[in-house]
Amino acid sequence: MKKTTGTDRSITQKWRPATQAIRGGTWRSEHGETSEALFLTSGYTYDDAATVAARFAGEQDGMTYSRLQNPTVAMLEERIALMEGAEACRTQASGMAAMTAALLCQLSAGDHCVAARAAFGSCRWLVDSLLPRFGIETTVIDSADNAAWEEAIRPNTKVFFFESPANPTLDIVDMEFVCKLASAHGIVTVVDNAFCSPALQRPMEFGADVVAYSATKLMDGQGRVLAGAICGTEEFINETLLPFQRNTGPNCAPFNAWVVHKGLETLSLRAHKQSENALKLGQFMEGRVPHMLHPGLASHPRFDLAQKQMDACGPIFSFVVDGRAQAHAILDALQLVDISNNIGDARSLMCHPASTTHAGMSEEDRAEMGVLEGMLRINVGLEDPQDIIEDMDQALTAAGL
Ligand SMILES: *Cc1c(COP(=O)(O)O)cnc(C)c1O
Repeated sequence: MKKTTGTDRSITQKWRPATQAIRGGTWRSEHGETSEALFLTSGYTYDDAATVAARFAGEQDGMTYSRLQNPTVAMLEERIALMEGAEACRTQASGMAAMTAALLCQLSAGDHCVAARAAFGSCRWLVDSLLPRFGIETTVIDSADNAAWEEAIRPNTKVFFFESPANPTLDIVDMEFVCKLASAHGIVTVVDNAFCSPALQRPMEFGADVVAYSATKLMDGQGRVLAGAICGTEEFINETLLPFQRNTGPNCAPFNAWVVHKGLETLSLRAHKQSENALKLGQFMEGRVPHMLHPGLASHPRFDLAQKQMDACGPIFSFVVDGRAQAHAILDALQLVDISNNIGDARSLMCHPASTTHAGMSEEDRAEMGVLEGMLRINVGLEDPQDIIEDMDQALTAAGL
């Protein structure tokens, strides 16, 4: 394997994101392949015993086992780190593997974690159910309330964990404020940036310490594989995350990493075009449905903040109609948009969070975080926006709107 200029940070850090997304991290075999090679191998062989001993001792570069290193995966990690503006990145088996590892690698019994109450259902399960089982205290707060972050801090607070925009309420966190507050108290901020990807929002520019991803969403972007990633400083990744990851094994499979490579090549194009389509659909729907939750529309309570933090509004927004029956009626009337709980896909997909992604929570918890019975969440795809608008138009009409 030959490293290309794509692995030389003195060169790649000067590249702009679109170049990094295509060329960052590339190694080539002796065949000089254009597309990244897919190394479907779990292990490696060695010319002699001294070589393997030196590698295990950390005295020689080289691969030893795919839970520890894999060339296809390593190329992807370098590429994501560059796009994120992070010193280092490690990929994971899924977004939830990434969130779990990002929290468990640094939290211990007796620590305290403050988390946004509006969050992806499984992220809330980590905070509400998993962490407390290991003696880690947690507090959930209204993430749009800056004072609530400050009031929740205890002497043992170690981590702030949030999404922005949040799934599916589209709550926006004031990242500059929250990250500065955290850093003043020696607290690590872990940001789940799944709704944006580095093509639309780079939380480290606002002071975030750790950025974690479901690469299943916009990064793959074509609904094919599960994958995740964690970005941070070299010190965090190598000294805090890696001992956890290497010994517990939530690794990204090489095949999935390769698929995400192909996704990243078109990430920026897709993320911006899907954002444009989502804005057009949102503008069409505003006034027609009772309540819109759309970071690209001035009616969003934190529209100005969203404009500041995000390069574009992203493909996902939510809206609220009159209860579960009307929400289900809209879904059932769709002809083009699929009923699906995935997001970030090139296809337009719509779901009813209260009966799917957030069905595992009590109705009170859902109401408290704003996941109402009449809420629908849409991922706007790359179809012609006029076709998406016409489908939404007829589905709303069919449901009496
Ligand atoms: C989908 C999602 C996850 C989980 O990612 P998987 O790849 O499905 O495990 C975590 N956080 C957010 C905000 C998500 O949208």
